[in-house]
Parts: sequence; C-alpha cells; structure tokens
Amino acid sequence: MKILATDLDRTLLPNGSWKNDSEAISMFNELTEKNGVLVIYVTGRNLALTENAIKEFGVRYPNILCADVGTSIRKYEDGVWKFDDGWIDHVKRESPRWDAMAIRDAVAGINGMREQESEHLNQFKQSYYVDHEKKDQVLIKVDELVKGKFDEVIVYSFDSQDGKGLLDFLPASATKQTALEYVAKEFGAAKEDIVFCGDSGNDIFPLTAGFCGVLVKNADDQLVANVKKAMNQNPELKVYFAKGGVKGLKGYYTSGVIEGAYHYGIFD
Ligand SMILES: [Mg+2]
Repeated sequence: MKILATDLDRTLLPNGSWKNDSEAISMFNELTEKNGVLVIYVTGRNLALTENAIKEFGVRYPNILCADVGTSIRKYEDGVWKFDDGWIDHVKRESPRWDAMAIRDAVAGINGMREQESEHLNQFKQSYYVDHEKKDQVLIKVDELVKGKFDEVIVYSFDSQDGKGLLDFLPASATKQTALEYVAKEFGAAKEDIVFCGDSGNDIFPLTAGFCGVLVKNADDQLVANVKKAMNQNPELKVYFAKGGVKGLKGYYTSGVIEGAYHYGIFD
C-alpha cells in the first residue's frame, strides 16, 4: 500500500510568501488518485479549518485526517468523517498523568503567553500564543512548572507568516508522530513505507521517527538544521530535501510534496 502523509500549511497548501506552481494542486489530486495512494493530512488545524482549506485551495479530501497536531484522528469515508474513539482511549492509557486543566493552572501566571481560542483547544491540546521576543524566558518558566509532570510534550513553533509564537502542550502519546504511527499500525504498514512531508516546527517529530521524510523547498531554516543534526546522529534516517526541477515544478509547497512522492516511488 502506498501511503502519503503531509502537513497542510505551507507544505501541501501554498499559503506562504514563496512562489507556487499554479498547476501543482490539481496534479497532486490526480496523481494520488491515479496511483491509488492512501492520503493522510497531519495538521495543526482543527476539522473546521481543515475543511476551509480544502474549499479554499481545492486540495482533495484525505482518507485520514490527523488534526489538532495529532490529538484527533478521523477517517473520511463515503463523504462522512468518522471520529476514531480508539485513539482517545489509546492516548489516555499511554499518558495517564496527562491533565490539561492542571497544566492550565500551572502556567496561568507566566508573562508573555496567552491561551488560544477555545476552538484550538481540546482535551489533549492546551495551546498558547507566545510573544516571540519573550520566547526564551517563557520556555524556561514553562519547563520549570510543567516539564516531566504530566506525561506531556511541550512544542514551540514560530509562524513566520504572521509572526506568532505558538506553544502546544500535548500528551506525549498524542503528537503528529504518534498519531501517524497509530495509523500505520492500523493499516499494517511499516514506517519506512510511509512518506511524510513537512515544512516547520512540530514536523520535526515525524520527520525524524523513521518514516520516509520530505522537506519542501520552503522549509524553515531551523527545521532544516534540526533534521540535518538528527541525520548526523542517526545515519539510518531517510529524509529528502525538495529542490525543484521535477516535472517542471519549483519545489515549494505542493510541488515539494509531489517531488518527494516521486523520489520514494509513491508516484510512478
Ligand atoms: Mg506547516
């Protein structure tokens, strides 16, 4: 089975400042269909924002959606989303000390961060906006008060488009990486048979977890540096850096996803 997993914003979706190829999205839709590829979106977006993206950019529906940074999993079958309750039970079992409200209380007094709107929060996702200039102090304080106490992971990412710092507290068992591992297991697929494409921040986890990684050409410098560091420490890691020039495409966003899919033989 051919499985292609991809981040959405600035990976599959051309919503950054680099020049996109106007034909890339229809190519992606056709090539995944023609090659019988199982498509998984792995995104920080919630369901409503994912549907907005599908409408706005014309990308196809995925077969599986790992949304809210991996804290929710849904299948899309016969035009209907089916929520995976098994994933919720799995996360609760694997991260028994997880407690979103206790984390909320613990960080309530920290200067330079503010809780995100309720639609960006769920039982496994406690998220904040951070003043990027204050990021270092904020993260030190956060580590002091939270780290290691709640079976959590603390993920900071910087949205270079709107200058926002984003801080997510997630159960250690519910990230983009673990959600994808869970789906892989369900389909009986080995990690090395799954391609994952990303561009920034929290994509580091699935990119360095043993999947076939792809960085689109517009990937953040920080992510590129972190991935290269991980590759030096673990020569087994397979990561492809899109550079453009494949099928006349430039390698940014969707084009980088297509380039990576050709590289790993997902598209013939
Ligand atoms: Mg992204």
